[in-house]
Amino acid sequence: GKGKWKEFDKRDLLLTYNALKVLEARYLLKDPNTLRYIETPQMMFRRVAKFLASVEKSYGKSDNDAKQLEEKFYEIMSELKFLPNTPTLMNSGTRLGILSACFVIPVRDSMITSNGEGIYDALRAMAVVHQQGGGTGFDFSELRPKGDIVASTAGVASGPVSFMRIFDVSTDVVKQGGKRRGANMGVMHVWHPDIDDFIKAKTGQLKDTQLQNFNISVGVYDYFMNAVERSDVVPLVNPRKTKIPGKEWEYYIAKARGYITEDWIQEVILSELEEKGGAVYLDESKIITVDEALVIAEKEGAITQWVNARQLFEEIVKGAWDSGDPGLLFIDTINRRHPTWYLGKINATNPCGEEPLLPWESCNLGSINLEKFVIERDGKPTIDWDGLAETIKYAVRLLDNVIDANRYPLKQIEEATKRTRKVGLGVMGLARMLIKLGIPYDSVDAVYLSYQLAKFIYYQAFKESIEIAKEKGSFPAYDSKLYRDIWESAKSFDEILEIVGIKDKPSEYIKRLTFIVDKLDFDKLKEDRIKYGLRNATVVSVAPTGTISIIAGTSSSIEPLFALAFIRNVAVGKFMEIDPLFLEYLRKYELDNPEVVKKVAETGMIGDNLFMPKTMRKIFRTAHEVPPEYHLLHQAVWQQWNDSGTSKTINLKSEEPPETVEKVYLLAWKLGIKGVTVYRDKSKSQQVIYFGIKK
Ligand code: UDP
Repeated sequence: GKGKWKEFDKRDLLLTYNALKVLEARYLLKDPNTLRYIETPQMMFRRVAKFLASVEKSYGKSDNDAKQLEEKFYEIMSELKFLPNTPTLMNSGTRLGILSACFVIPVRDSMITSNGEGIYDALRAMAVVHQQGGGTGFDFSELRPKGDIVASTAGVASGPVSFMRIFDVSTDVVKQGGKRRGANMGVMHVWHPDIDDFIKAKTGQLKDTQLQNFNISVGVYDYFMNAVERSDVVPLVNPRKTKIPGKEWEYYIAKARGYITEDWIQEVILSELEEKGGAVYLDESKIITVDEALVIAEKEGAITQWVNARQLFEEIVKGAWDSGDPGLLFIDTINRRHPTWYLGKINATNPCGEEPLLPWESCNLGSINLEKFVIERDGKPTIDWDGLAETIKYAVRLLDNVIDANRYPLKQIEEATKRTRKVGLGVMGLARMLIKLGIPYDSVDAVYLSYQLAKFIYYQAFKESIEIAKEKGSFPAYDSKLYRDIWESAKSFDEILEIVGIKDKPSEYIKRLTFIVDKLDFDKLKEDRIKYGLRNATVVSVAPTGTISIIAGTSSSIEPLFALAFIRNVAVGKFMEIDPLFLEYLRKYELDNPEVVKKVAETGMIGDNLFMPKTMRKIFRTAHEVPPEYHLLHQAVWQQWNDSGTSKTINLKSEEPPETVEKVYLLAWKLGIKGVTVYRDKSKSQQVIYFGIKK
């Protein structure tokens, strides 16, 4: 009707040119026969809102209730205050059923297995997930090393890295329906005999040719990091040769590290794992130490070699400096802070690291656009905390509905996902929020604001998950006694500054701006959780928001601006972008002439440009001007109030030496970050975003 079109016109005007280009190329539905568009952006938001709100009816809600919720869902999306991850936008209400972005698929040491967890079962699972737009993560550590025996054929094993190549080629071929490049995370734990091959799988001569559809990460443990600092030796263990195969061998370490408690061993392992015929435990009643575990492995002849941890670490650092790979996953940190730790040990994450998941689990994401919550009060910019809380509420409900609306491609994925109902509410537009508030990204105030925002969002999301539990029940695997409240292990802001050795303190201004956060009552939250239950095993996650931030027209995730002007290379073509906030400031200072813009565009930054106003030079800090420790600080504070992972790239200048990467990796571990990735400018021939404009 006419009235409707009026609404469409107005809201579509919120979309930038780049947003429209991306939507048109990949998201808006077309008639399969004529290839003509059959929806506008507003119709897309409506399609998603309607589809996800209709879930409520299966919980006994009336048509009217569902309609009201649909309006709310539509509103937060069309106002670009919140967007769900790409698969939800693309696939809601269509024939393709996957609405989630993140998956972890197990790979056991066998071609195929009866329960569908062998190498080629995993390959098949990957193909169906990619086909519909999901990203997949794998831990390859259970596979026997290269050169090991294969009993059935009396042959020789080719090792995990060669199998990874098959996964890589398959990813190329499937290409996510032509709309999105398939993405993978390949993990190998640091004790695996092939770890050296793995570390070098994408570096040196191989860097722009091998495993191009993989991010790779080494799974490291505290014992390893400690050995690095002491330059101690660590063992490499053949997972096939030990009675405590890969996974279980790690359990011994897990126990020693204390994230599996004695109580838990008694209560859960003995009954449940025994019943499932799972693990072999030599002395279930006793927590054994790493050394004891090693004695066992040694007796079994499973230890193939002792290597210097420091040397291994330096190889990792060299690779990352050279090519960005491998990153690190801190397996102990991940498991220590995993709320449903009693369901097993996490060994891998999805491609960008924001979702550490158990085998077969999936998670759907969505992100709040922080920029939209900067409002003017008395002529000054401030934060609309009430509006933020309100948006979080509907966002969490929307994400929870995605789990019911999802059509899962495999039974195992459906079972594992519905058991924990993990959702991941994240953010985008942090950098632009900071600019609007006049706070430099690389300042203690900015990090403090991040800390407070993370805490606020986590609190509100958790609260809403309790509310939904009251109405629809807790996630099936919820155990009010065993569930771990992650805020109890969150580091304080001061602690974090101290680890990095920063003496500055947050200003009175920023404390006043965020004082509402200090009033949040987490004890009450815990009481409510115990009383009413919890709908989702995890509620938040910080995703990269690579595409949805373009649709929202804001900066991605918690990253600083990449460049004030740059060329963006995406599947559908090249885009030249000048940051609109930057342009606004140029106008304010009457500097918006083509000569100035052209000059800025050459490097993408203005930090060294003495002709630019000082205020602008401070506020418009780009990724490579931000010192590495400030990248880490933002990641660390968001991670404290996050029950899953925080995706972030520690962007480095091209000239940074390997020592910087080493420092970053060690500091990341100490700050309690779950995973870390660096990217040194120009270290790969293909970059998604280039600095400045190439002449
Ligand atoms: N992802 C994927 N292919 C891609 C980009 C992303 O499979 O080309 C998956 C991957 O699991 C990643 C997650 O989507 O970690 C979230 O990425 P992002 O936030 O950039 O996605 P968006 O929703 O913005 O498209």
